[in-house]
Amino acid sequence: MVDRRLRSAEILAVGSELLTPFRTDTNSLFLTARLNELGIDVCGKAIVADDPAALQSALRGALDRADVVLTTGGLGPTDDDLTREAIAAVVGVASVEDGTVLAAIAARFASRGMRMPAINGRQAQIPSGATVLPNPRGTAPGLWMPVSDRVIVALPGPPRELEPMFDAEVVPRLQARGSRGVLRRRVLKIAGRGESHVDELAQPVYGPWRDADVPITTTILASSGQVELHLAAQGQDSVTLDRVLAAAVEDMQMALGPIVFSVDGLSLEEVVGQRLRERGLMLAAAESCTGGLLMGALTDVAGSSDWTAGGVVAYSNAVKEQSLGVPGDLIATNGAVSEPVALAMAEGVRLRLGADIGVGITGIAGPGGGTKLKPVGTVVFAVVGPGESRVVRTVRFPGDRAMVRRMAVHTALDLVRRALSDQT
Ligand code: ATP
Ligand code: MG
Repeated sequence: MVDRRLRSAEILAVGSELLTPFRTDTNSLFLTARLNELGIDVCGKAIVADDPAALQSALRGALDRADVVLTTGGLGPTDDDLTREAIAAVVGVASVEDGTVLAAIAARFASRGMRMPAINGRQAQIPSGATVLPNPRGTAPGLWMPVSDRVIVALPGPPRELEPMFDAEVVPRLQARGSRGVLRRRVLKIAGRGESHVDELAQPVYGPWRDADVPITTTILASSGQVELHLAAQGQDSVTLDRVLAAAVEDMQMALGPIVFSVDGLSLEEVVGQRLRERGLMLAAAESCTGGLLMGALTDVAGSSDWTAGGVVAYSNAVKEQSLGVPGDLIATNGAVSEPVALAMAEGVRLRLGADIGVGITGIAGPGGGTKLKPVGTVVFAVVGPGESRVVRTVRFPGDRAMVRRMAVHTALDLVRRALSDQT
């Protein structure tokens, strides 16, 4: 057998439930991230029903195209768990009972005071030539099955079983046969600019990297209110790669300026939390159109009680007046969605909750409620503090209600971040 280098992979997520709206395949995302780090490209993936013919045909196709075929799921003891049989059929080998595997499964049941059901014996049927990958978290062992110069790797479905098995058993085997060494990646996160705008600013920086000794590839990804710039480099020595990437990140930060809010994977709410913690400040928010989503995002961060005082969901005008002290005539004169009202909400919540920074958000998320002057998507933000600092912004977002609300949370977080770094 030729010990060919393994460069490409395909992933087959096995399970009819993954073809319904009720379950999503996430294993392939985990596997793709790991394989890329090992310098193996994922050139395809598919979701396959619990059906012998479909599974065998998918395995054959994937083996034609890729050096490594990874399956997830279908290793259980029940009749709809067909992955072992399909692999044996495709490779053209018989399965034999593995006494060690059988004893391990029986011992697992015994340790919980249970007798092993007879059907679990199926999980000890191992296709000839396969190496068994132990599963400390479950009964289904994985398989490493060489097929001439390629390999099929069968992994259990539950992520809590698959992930440790992949790291302990599969990574070292793939590393031993990898080709292009490791892939390292850095992610810059950017707020307050669209994808094309960021790309325009970044373009002049990319050029020289492409022709460098260690070339850097870039990918730009946008989601509502945030742009991510991924920088990746591949090579044999991770120390060199990290050094090259660190220099690239620095160049890019210089080019983009303060719109870059994170270079180390932190989310915007985590960055805000970190800044508040560094300065020993507490934040409070008064939310109208976001209905508490800003508080939700902030309190998603572990340890947020150190820098989050609390919030008021001030949806009706009455609550804006009574709970925040926004003057009724201010609302009557300017409308609830206006800069004076947002500012009064921020002042009110800061004062009443005894915080250092107050945030006010009021807007029209839609689909109804828009006017000519204030169309759907108009959101007004105010950030008061730290100290005498005051920021008020009116922004018009595109998209539906959910998108407007998401982008509003993002924008509010970014305004707080900038207020905390004196960049407005
Ligand atoms: P078991 O011994 O638990 O039956 P198995 O290898 O047969 O393991 P499946 O029966 O296919 O695995 O899946 C078990 C559970 O694992 C599923 O109900 C699902 O919750 C989860 N799962 C399966 N495949 C995936 C996937 N691709 N992504 C995320 N979760 C998955
Ligand atoms: Mg199963």
